[in-house]
Amino acid sequence: MDLAIAGKKAIVCAASKGLGKACAVSLAREGVDVTICARTPETVEATAAEIRALGGGKVTAIACDITSEEGRQMVLQHCPEPDILINNAGGPPSGDFRDWDRDTWIRALDANMLTPIFLIKATVDGMMARKFGRIINITSSAVKAPIEVLGLSNGARAGLTGFVAGIARKTVASNVTINGILPGPFDTDRLRGSFRAAAQKTGRPAEDLAAERAAANPAGRFGQASEFGELCAYLCSAQAGYITGQNILIDGGHFPGTL
Ligand code: NAP
Repeated sequence: MDLAIAGKKAIVCAASKGLGKACAVSLAREGVDVTICARTPETVEATAAEIRALGGGKVTAIACDITSEEGRQMVLQHCPEPDILINNAGGPPSGDFRDWDRDTWIRALDANMLTPIFLIKATVDGMMARKFGRIINITSSAVKAPIEVLGLSNGARAGLTGFVAGIARKTVASNVTINGILPGPFDTDRLRGSFRAAAQKTGRPAEDLAAERAAANPAGRFGQASEFGELCAYLCSAQAGYITGQNILIDGGHFPGTL
């Protein structure tokens, strides 16, 4: 299926690894020019080179912290009129809400709620004027079913989702859609890091903990980042202009609800 987005311009945030990188790969393969960012210069440059080698759209790498105003300006200077915006950032730490002070909450809100909102604010009017825009927020299955130890994520991502629900119905008549993709467990550095941390606490090998968790998923495995990237690319396609304000779970069937 030709997604009919070749030649479009995309900003893909936090994209040197994992889910963001997979979205950039899938979009570039469709001929989209992608501007990717991440904090570590070597990694983001290496990822850009890797995506270029696949062929497809042009790839620009920006080393910046997307949760800072300066970082967002750097990205927007390189790609001031994106047709596609993929909002993403590192997830907040796990823990007990009794230990989190105001600064901890502000960091989580900055990364997982306010940064996407400010990037939407900076780009959505131009998309509406040009009559094409696709905005995807990478959130978490925690929006659908809170994860006890990830209270910072539960709160910040629910805030973003509520905000987007309000505006996604205002933009769609101009062919600008805004949707969330909610990942369950995907085999990325972040997920592997969580098993390493759990191994230190429990004294059990990280591989055993990961294998148990994968086996407990109805799919019997973790998601592959490329599966996430392909869904993202479809939601950015010309054909997906009638899908807006939705939160699409991709979790191997882990969430047990009928709807
Ligand atoms: P990952 O593999 O750890 O990759 C994170 C990427 O984001 C890296 O490229 C990292 O590069 C970049 N990054 C982190 N903080 C950044 C910042 N402040 N500014 C710019 N770039 C930044 O993580 P992932 O698994 O793809 O997760 C992506 C998002 O999905 C996270 O918010 C995570 O909480 C959420 N999520 C993931 C899963 C899962 O199972 N993987 C499940 C639910 C939700 P640098 O470190 O160099 O900046």
